Amino acid sequence: MIADRLNRISESETIAMAKLGRALKAEGKDIISLSFGEPDFFTPDHIKKAAIDAINQNFTFYTPVAGIPELKEAIRTKFKRDNNLDYETDQIVVSTGAKNSIVNAVLSLVNPGDEVIIPKPFWVSYADMVYLAEGTCVFLDTRVETDYKISPAQLEEAITPKTKLFMFSSPNNPSGMVYSEDELKALAEVFDRHPHVYIISDEIYEHINFIGGHASIANYGTLFDRTVTVNGLSKAFSMTGWRIGYIGAPKAIAYACEKLQSQFTSGTNSVAQRAALAALLGDMKPTYDMRDAFRKRRNLCFDILKSIPGMKLNMPDGAFYLFPDISAYFGKSYNGQTIRNSQDLCMYLLNEVYVVTVAGSAFGNDDCIRFSYATSEDNLTKAMNRIKDALMKLS
Ligand code: PMP
Ligand code: GLU
Repeated sequence: MIADRLNRISESETIAMAKLGRALKAEGKDIISLSFGEPDFFTPDHIKKAAIDAINQNFTFYTPVAGIPELKEAIRTKFKRDNNLDYETDQIVVSTGAKNSIVNAVLSLVNPGDEVIIPKPFWVSYADMVYLAEGTCVFLDTRVETDYKISPAQLEEAITPKTKLFMFSSPNNPSGMVYSEDELKALAEVFDRHPHVYIISDEIYEHINFIGGHASIANYGTLFDRTVTVNGLSKAFSMTGWRIGYIGAPKAIAYACEKLQSQFTSGTNSVAQRAALAALLGDMKPTYDMRDAFRKRRNLCFDILKSIPGMKLNMPDGAFYLFPDISAYFGKSYNGQTIRNSQDLCMYLLNEVYVVTVAGSAFGNDDCIRFSYATSEDNLTKAMNRIKDALMKLS
């Protein structure tokens, strides 16, 4: 009954694990969830007030499909201020979350059979979005030892005449890796030699960066005219449920995304757009406070994890995830449970110590496991110690 295109994709693993965690908690189990990438902070008050005002002013009708003009103007200001990117108004499209922005861009660019280069580990939805568009994913391997970064030579080698698109996130979900300006410039030099390749640069974790100096690849070489710069409100302003994302893109791509939205969603929630306007033009202190809290949490988790024998991990410079290589535990067992892959380890941690995580296989790296540290320090201390106990029992 269900159409074939649905067989090409699976349910998002991050969402599936979060669902499982919630169900077990509702059964009364002492669950700690490190599965979902969602800040646990409340949306700042000045943003909530803008939404309440919008409702009271009856700002409740359909909006222009690509976003209200004031918000598009605020996004232009933000791109110029934070990223040195000078987009015109008709290069901006507001969508129902960055996820919606990314799938719009993928569906706008990828024809059946087109190759899309995606470095591993990648955010869980990228590959499925490409499969939905009937594209072919070309994955690039990376290693924890080199901070999960690709090299320009690796990129050069992967590009073929059929390459249409390159997709990546920095700061990265799931590894927390952040490309420096020089590293992005070196990748841009490769793209300069291959003008048929488009780029989706997912910068949703821009403000959760512990080393500073966020760099946008659209700034370098010839890339401004073929890069879709994606951002959103979910992470920087703790606004996951409001569902606002946006792009700055070449006009033809922006128009294609708007056309898709005109048939799929009719545009984005009006009230949430007013809230987004207040967020983008308002006080950034709450965002910086959240970033500082994430840095403390990262350090706390990192210190406990690095004391566990067999765990190999990089120091994440951004986002709110740790992505250790846990392959040293493969082949070990406890209590009748044998660990053969990341999925087994993920289920072992759930069954043994009630900690919900996401298997690295969902992000294209089966040697790893993802821990989201977007929860309280108390929860994290408990969870890390439980994980340590569970891993030490394996032999
Ligand atoms: N990109 C990355 C790398 C993410 O981690 C997320 C988190 N869900 C998104 C995009 C989408 O965010 P949202 O749809 O909530 O704006
Ligand atoms: N980005 C978050 C994560 O990776 C939210 C879940 C999702 O949108 O898939 O967990």
